[in-house]
Amino acid sequence: MTTAALPDEHFTYLENFGHSLRAAVYLYKAANIEEIYAVFKFARKNGLKVALRGAGRSYNDAALNSGGIVMDLTGMNKILAWNPETGLITAEPGVTLEKLWKTVLPDGWWPPVVSGTMTTTLGGCLGMNIHGKNNFKLGTIGEQVVEFTALLPTGAQVTCSPTLNGDLFYSLISGMGMLGVFTSITMQMKKVYSGMLKVHAFNVPDLDRHLDAIAECAPENSYTVGWLDTTASGKGLGRGQLHAAKYLGEGEYPLPAKTLQVSHQTLPAHLFGVFPKSIIHYFMSPFMINPGVRLINSAKYFAGMRESHYLQSHAAFHFLLDYVPDWEKAYGRGGMIQYQSFVPKETAKDAWRELLTLSHKRGLPAFLGVTKRHRPDKFLLSHAVDGFSLALDFKITSGSRARMQAMLQEFDQLVTDAGGRFYFAKNSETSPETASGFLGEETIKRFKALKRRTDPYNLLESDLYRRVFGKLSGNHRNLA
Ligand SMILES: Cc1cc2nc3c(=O)[nH]c(=O)nc-3n(C[C@H](O)[C@H](O)[C@H](O)COP(=O)(O)OP(=O)(O)OC[C@H]3O[C@@H](n4cnc5c(N)ncnc54)[C@H](O)[C@@H]3O)c2cc1C
Repeated sequence: MTTAALPDEHFTYLENFGHSLRAAVYLYKAANIEEIYAVFKFARKNGLKVALRGAGRSYNDAALNSGGIVMDLTGMNKILAWNPETGLITAEPGVTLEKLWKTVLPDGWWPPVVSGTMTTTLGGCLGMNIHGKNNFKLGTIGEQVVEFTALLPTGAQVTCSPTLNGDLFYSLISGMGMLGVFTSITMQMKKVYSGMLKVHAFNVPDLDRHLDAIAECAPENSYTVGWLDTTASGKGLGRGQLHAAKYLGEGEYPLPAKTLQVSHQTLPAHLFGVFPKSIIHYFMSPFMINPGVRLINSAKYFAGMRESHYLQSHAAFHFLLDYVPDWEKAYGRGGMIQYQSFVPKETAKDAWRELLTLSHKRGLPAFLGVTKRHRPDKFLLSHAVDGFSLALDFKITSGSRARMQAMLQEFDQLVTDAGGRFYFAKNSETSPETASGFLGEETIKRFKALKRRTDPYNLLESDLYRRVFGKLSGNHRNLA
């Protein structure tokens, strides 16, 4: 690889969402198909690799490319067509979920699958095939896509749907931006009759009840999500609080026109009407140590002892994390990572009991735990199972980095032994051995064969791709 010809003004450092990884890259912005292709031609001429980047909200190295080009696609952010009669929308890949819901909600529609933040882009969401709190019901975002067009690094443009170029449809979606660039995406929105959801919140005393209750809630609710107290141990291991939510039916709530307005959904600019949201993470920082988190978790659990039913706007229910901008900075200089495992329903309780116990034993408890119910899907690099996911957020410090690394390798083994899978948008340590273990050699062979077809010069590469699809080595990459 040579970087001699690259202009200095493109050189910069980029980080993952959790600020635990850093890469020196050449950043290029592309705002249309011609500009994307020009970057590919430039990269080929200069012997460089290109990684694609949406909003950069992946927790790991998915949108980083050390020593190479990162192509930022946030400038391709136009809504190309919106039909409020049918709920079909066509948009460029840099359109954020925020722009998407703000476009469709006033007409009585909602994006059927959203991430826990509205800052992500459609291209990034398809690249990882994101899931929402309704994965058990509607599947992933890919299942809502009617058609997309993509530019391949060869300069060829392809249109794909479940029935047209189906092999590319099911592999570009989930393909981590390694097969081609989404340039326009057509999706079906979900009809809603109110801007509000009916929410039922209640505590669960331990891990068994936690997962049983998620499974029991799923059939009759549109969404379910659990908060898990990662610091509780003994009888309370896995305790937490569930939020199950339902759409309101037509006429069920008297003010649909009002609640469907964007202004009714907007998250408040101040906490308690006083503190600007932008400074809240500074107040959180002192609590981001083991005893502080234990205290906050216990307070949250006991405050939730009274079961409650209430109405909540779609935006507030889905994008709770956006209430506190830059909350991840509260983790301090070493940043944070997320470890999310997807485990079949038959083995999840035992696997996570072991994970949580191990994290306590090692003195490295997670600071946040979130549980969801999932179903399998047909996409090539799928992370889903007929079971549950547990996302654990960990603080990284220079003192704990190596021990964390070792513990997460033990986690990987426990999850793999339980028949679980991992998500390429989240985990920072998945090794080639682990990936081939859960995806299977056949899937990896198919992915690499498709990559040879769509990207014959092997221009598309990211730090994640090299880490996970590099040679099986037995050596694991460090977290930094
Ligand atoms: C607070 C928070 C909450 C989250 N909640 C959830 C959740 O509930 N469910 C969930 O599934 N995920 C969740 N995520 C993860 C997030 O949704 C994914 O990482 C998503 O991919 C980020 O989108 P992005 O636009 O930031 O993409 P980036 O992180 O920039 O890129 C993601 C991948 O997409 C590829 N890519 C980007 N643009 C294109 C394009 N145009 N064509 C092809 N490939 C492209 C990139 O190369 C990369 O591999 C959450 C993340 C955060 C920070």
